[in-house]
Amino acid sequence: MEMDTKCVLCNRLDEDGTHLFFKCKGAVKVWRALGMEQHRRILERKSSASDAMKYILGTQEREQMIIVTFLWLWWLERNRYAAEYLAICKQNSKPAQVVKQMWKRPDRGWLKINSEGAFSERTSEGGWGVIIRDEEGDVVEAAAGKLTRLWNDYIV
Ligand SMILES: [Zn+2]
Repeated sequence: MEMDTKCVLCNRLDEDGTHLFFKCKGAVKVWRALGMEQHRRILERKSSASDAMKYILGTQEREQMIIVTFLWLWWLERNRYAAEYLAICKQNSKPAQVVKQMWKRPDRGWLKINSEGAFSERTSEGGWGVIIRDEEGDVVEAAAGKLTRLWNDYIV
């Protein structure tokens, strides 16, 4: 099977887990904005996903939540980009309908805010994440957090 292995976010190096989550230009900006650069530097040197997870699980609970929420949001974002790329490749056979729902850069001079959240009904705990990007798609600010004692109808 022939596959394009270039990173869909920076379009530069081959995409693997280490590049995507810890070395990609955009990811590095978010790690820094989250104040988690010291963890990123350690994680980029881990030799397997299992070692990376062990390290993350060894951090403080608050840091774990931020790191895991970021990794989840980043993976979601990567897949949105990948889907947009595929939609463009297939534009001739399938017109714009798929592209319509993809993330788009804000107009010049504007910022765009995206947020996600999730929670477990079983534990009443959840996490949230926010990312603000400029007209180039570059990260201006990012944050993530943990919520406790949530109710099912707490979602705002
Ligand atoms: Zn990249």
